[in-house]
Order: sequence, then C-alpha cells, then structure tokens
Amino acid sequence: MSSILDNRPALKAQIDQIAEVAGYLWQKGWAERNGGNITVNITEFVDEQMKSMPAICEPRSIGKVLPNIDGCWFYCKGTGKRMRDLARWPMANGSVIRILPGCSTYEIVADMPVAPTSELPSHLAVHDYLLAKGSPYRASVHTHPIELVALTHSKKWLKKDVATKMLWSMIPETKAFCPRGLGMVPYMMASSTELADATIKAIDEDYDVVMWEKHGVFAVDTDVMSAFDQIDVLNKSAQIYIAAKNMGFEPEGMTEAQMKEMTVAFGLPK
Ligand SMILES: [Zn+2]
Repeated sequence: MSSILDNRPALKAQIDQIAEVAGYLWQKGWAERNGGNITVNITEFVDEQMKSMPAICEPRSIGKVLPNIDGCWFYCKGTGKRMRDLARWPMANGSVIRILPGCSTYEIVADMPVAPTSELPSHLAVHDYLLAKGSPYRASVHTHPIELVALTHSKKWLKKDVATKMLWSMIPETKAFCPRGLGMVPYMMASSTELADATIKAIDEDYDVVMWEKHGVFAVDTDVMSAFDQIDVLNKSAQIYIAAKNMGFEPEGMTEAQMKEMTVAFGLPK
C-alpha cells in the first residue's frame, strides 16, 4: 500500500519520531489502553504535490474557528487508538489532516480515514495559540505519567510552583531541561473547553508542561521528542522524591544557593 510518507524522508522522519515517542509512553506505563494524545504541526514538510492530494473524507467541523492555523497540516493520533499500536503502525493509528479555508473545518488526506482524537479541538486550539504567539513549538503531547499524576492527589503540590521547586531540587538536570517548570491546572472535565482554555492560559504564563490535576500532563515543544523529554525529566524527579520517601526520609533537595548557581551557569530563566 502506498503512503504519503513514500519519497518524503523529512516528513517520514517526523512520523518516525512520533512513533518512537508513542512507544516510550507505552513502555513507561503512561499510556494505558487508548490513553494520551499526540498532535504535530507538520506544515513545514508539506510539498506542492501534497497540496493537490484529494481528501479521503468529507470536511469535518473542528467545533471552533481557529484563524492562525489556516492552511496548516497536522499529524493526529486517531480516536480510540492505542499508543502501543501507533508505535508500530503510525499511519494506521493516526492520520494527516489539513485545515480548510475558514479555519473551522478539516479533512483527512492520508493514509487511511482514521478519525482524529476527540481532543482535536483543544489540541488545535493550543497550536493556534502557539502560532499566534510566533512560537517555534510544533508538537503537543498529552500522557499519564504515574508519579506526576500521584503528586496531584495532594493539595500541597497544587499550589503555584510548589511542585516545580521540589522537582527542580531533586537533580540538577531537571531545571536545565525543563527550565519553565510545571504548571498546575485544577481538576476539570477531560475534553472540556474549560480545560483547554485553562491549559492555554498556563502555557501563556510561561510553562511548557502543564499538569492536569488527577489526570495527566500536557506538554508543548519544538518537536515531539523534546516535549517527551521535558515530561521525562520531571517524572524522573518525582520518582527520586518517592524513592527517598520510601527509604523513610524527606529528601533534602538541592539548596537555594545550589539552584541559583546552576541557573546562572546554564543561563536559565530565573
Ligand atoms: Zn488523558
């Protein structure tokens, strides 16, 4: 069977990276059943021949008007699809879509008519926001990292930047590779407009990774691997914290002076 990825090595490399990350999400135990989502803005890899490809479904409504994604193309995980399957067969468990003029509808172009995630409106709203802001970020990942989700079951960690400070202090790399920390969004219904709006607000306040209380994380970055890496370093810190607690003590954490020294040395945001 032919694929839109045939003879398009740059686009194929992007989809391969999505599949690789989907495999990691499953291996880490963060993507049970059909849990989690990945959407990537692939517009920069679209050539003239792709633009003339016919759609393989009727135009579908996004549910909102998103003016900044006019003419953009996305790879989206399919609704009800599993990350562990996407890891092996990305084009059978996700699809390439294009946004139609008017910015309120889209159509599936390839490879199969796999309906995108039910979270599509909120993911596209985030991409719309990123483009409006002139951000270089093109990928969004939602997943259920066990230890980070566990943290949100205590009010203590939901206060602004309390969890961030603890996570940064567990190991120097966490602040180096997740310099904006972990935003917190209080519990809201999954798939709700309120949750999407609150996520965009948290990203706007300068977080790349946003925690949804008692649910999961939503991360954005230049590409899907970088978004995954930010979640991975944060969750590693949560695991170190838990390991220390399991050994029967409260971990010391790096001191304020050590954190400051590193912030200056790495040229990180304050
Ligand atoms: Zn979820």
